[in-house]
Amino acid sequence: MKKIKVFDVRVDEKQALQQWIERHQDEVEVVLTTDSFGGEHLTQLEDIDGISISQTTTFNDEYYPILTENGIYHIAQRSAGFDMYNLVAATASGVKISNVPSYSPQSIAEFAVTRTLALVRHTHRIDRNVALQDFTWDLAVQGRTVESLKIGVLGTGRIGSRVAKIFKGFGAKVYAYDIAPDPTLEGIVTYVDTLEALVKDIDVLTLHIPGSPENKYVVDEKILEQAKPGLFVINTARGIVLDTEALIRKLDDGTVAAAALDTYENEGAYFKNDWTNKPLGDPILSHLLERDDVIVSPHVAFYTDEAVQNLVDIPLDDVLSYINKHTAENIVNP
Ligand code: NAD
Repeated sequence: MKKIKVFDVRVDEKQALQQWIERHQDEVEVVLTTDSFGGEHLTQLEDIDGISISQTTTFNDEYYPILTENGIYHIAQRSAGFDMYNLVAATASGVKISNVPSYSPQSIAEFAVTRTLALVRHTHRIDRNVALQDFTWDLAVQGRTVESLKIGVLGTGRIGSRVAKIFKGFGAKVYAYDIAPDPTLEGIVTYVDTLEALVKDIDVLTLHIPGSPENKYVVDEKILEQAKPGLFVINTARGIVLDTEALIRKLDDGTVAAAALDTYENEGAYFKNDWTNKPLGDPILSHLLERDDVIVSPHVAFYTDEAVQNLVDIPLDDVLSYINKHTAENIVNP
């Protein structure tokens, strides 16, 4: 029987891995390890036919020829990002890399809407007051209906299109700007021609464009100052698409009413790690956490049972496909 080795196994993946293993127990044997690829594993590849890795740092270029010497021509990375692999070096050695381009756009879309609801109904303030046994009502917790809002969606790809559909379901008016508008969204969104035009008359701006170098600070001070005062900003895209310091200035002058940030441009050292009782060393992040008009979450928009299952199933299906057919669906270096 063929054998797959799965590296970097995290606790939260174990259930999904077990389910995949049970479904394929007659086809393939699966070995799980929490270790990263390298070290002693380089000398233990002879009986392995395929591997899946969840690399977060740069993959060592010298490992590609070692893989092919052992008959392994494919790495299935368990994430969307694959910038940790040198594709030129991998291709030169004949190693294909695959990724998980989309694991659950609905999860991220639903979280963006959840955070919008939190801001417009002030649930973070209500929860905080009630925890202090303050049961009063005041203007700070008087909300608005989503139905009455004009929503601006920046980027109507896999995630933004779903956000648009959910808000449409609430009865809101949905506007969008995308460099490549999607004709299938006719009747759901009204496209405008520029981001400047989008921000002028909306109540909520929700960001769903990639964090590519060209998209650094697409939402900057110039864009924010054109907004109607009282804008809600939701970022579940990448931190760098939004100029955080400009956002803070626009929160201070009331142009932005409140913001929900699931990503932050300098999140690297912080998000996913426990910093309880440790000084953060990032005054901007500390400031965001102290503000009453900002809610921060640690890049969890995607984090659902469905997403974790897909992050396991898609790469393992690709490993099996490569073993059996020498091809896999999500190869990034053809
Ligand atoms: P996608 O590629 O399907 O859609 C992106 C859309 O943005 C495309 O329609 C594209 O034409 C448009 N676009 C790109 N640059 C633009 C610009 N400057 N102005 C206007 N439109 C522009 O991507 P997706 O799957 O919807 O994902 C969007 C982003 O969500 C990802 O790139 C990623 O950064 C982020 N994301 C966040 C999480 C999370 O947990 N918070 C998880 C996964 C992805």
